[in-house]
Amino acid sequence: MLVEKWPARITRWFVKGHRNMPWRDDPSPYNVWISEVMLQQTRVSTVVPYFNRFVKRFPDVHALAMAKLEDALLVWEGLGYYARVKHLHEAARLIAGKNGGELPKTSRDWMTLPGIGPYTAAAIASISSGERVPAVDGNVLRVMSRFRGNVAFATRSSAIRNIQEMLSPMIRSVNPSHFNQALMEIGATLCLPRKTKCHLCPLKYECISFRKNGINLCPVKREKEAVPHYQEVAGAISKNGRYLIVNKYRGNMLHGLWEFPRLRVDGNIDSRMAAKALLSYTGLHSGSINHVISFKHAYSHFCVTVNAFSCTWRRGSVKTILNRCARWAPLSEIEKIPMSTVSRRIFLTLTRHGKTTSIV
Ligand code: SF4
Repeated sequence: MLVEKWPARITRWFVKGHRNMPWRDDPSPYNVWISEVMLQQTRVSTVVPYFNRFVKRFPDVHALAMAKLEDALLVWEGLGYYARVKHLHEAARLIAGKNGGELPKTSRDWMTLPGIGPYTAAAIASISSGERVPAVDGNVLRVMSRFRGNVAFATRSSAIRNIQEMLSPMIRSVNPSHFNQALMEIGATLCLPRKTKCHLCPLKYECISFRKNGINLCPVKREKEAVPHYQEVAGAISKNGRYLIVNKYRGNMLHGLWEFPRLRVDGNIDSRMAAKALLSYTGLHSGSINHVISFKHAYSHFCVTVNAFSCTWRRGSVKTILNRCARWAPLSEIEKIPMSTVSRRIFLTLTRHGKTTSIV
C-alpha cells in the first residue's frame, strides 16, 4: 500500500515553524477549549488579548462555573458572538456539577456540551487529548479542496464529510494534534481565500491545484449576498446623574449585555425626529437634545449606522415594555458592567470626550 508522505511532512513543518499562541504554550484541555470557542468566527490576533484576560480571571473550570455570567460577559465584552460565552459558562457549570470538574476527553463527549459542534469537538479532543479525529472547518475545507483539485460538492456539509473520510486514515500515522493544527495553520497563513503562498506550502508537491494552476477554481465561490444596512438611534438619557440602560436578556443576540436604549429607524428621517422617536419609545420627555457620535458598526449578517444623542430627563416614566429590563445607573457603575460594543463606544465618547452638539 502506498504510504502518503505529506501527513508526516506537514506535521514536521508545523512543529518547526508554527506561530506562537498562549494556548499552544500550555495546551491544557481548559485552555484549548476556551481558545477554540473564542476562535470561532474570530481571528487569532483579536483572540489573544481576550484569551489572556479570560484565563487570568477564570483560570480553571471551577472558577468559571462559580462566576456570575455577568462577570464572564464583562471579560468577553467586545469579542462579539455573545452566545459563545453564555454557552461556555453553562458548560462550565455542567462540568463542575456532574463530572467534578473533569473535562471531557473525547470529541463525542465534548459534543454533549452547549456551544460545541463537530469541528470544535474534534479540534479540542485532538489537540488536548490526542484523539485521532480530523477537524475540518472552512479553512481546512479550502486547503483540502485545492489540494485534491475538487471543485464541486452538492453541499458544504457533504464536502466536509468527504474531506473527513479522506483525512481519517492519514491522521492515524501522525501526531493528531500537530496534523490538525498544521492544516489549520496552512489555511490561515498560506492557502488564503484570495491569495496563496504555494512556494512556501508543505503540500505543494502533491497539490493538484498548484500543479495545474487551478487555485482560483477551488472551492467554487458562492455569490456573496448584499449585507443589509440599517439606521439606528441610541440615547444616553440621564436623570439625576444616572443613565437609563436596558438589558434585553432572552432571545436577543446580545445575550445579557447592557445597552443605552436604541431603536431602528427609517433612514430618511433626520436626527431630531429619530431622537424624538426613541424618547417616545421609552416613554420619556427631555429638554435639549445633543448629538454625541455617529458611527457604523458591522454584525455578522448586517450592519448599522448609529446616531447617538444625549439628553436630560424632564418628565415621564419608563414604559412598561422596557421597565422590566431597564434601570438607571451612574456612569461609575456603567463603567463596570458588560455593555454592547455600540453602547460602550457611546459611553466612552460621553465620558472621555464629553463634546456634544445640540440637535434640539
Ligand atoms: S500548494 Fe498552494 S493551493 Fe495547494 S494547498 Fe498549498 S497553498 Fe493551497
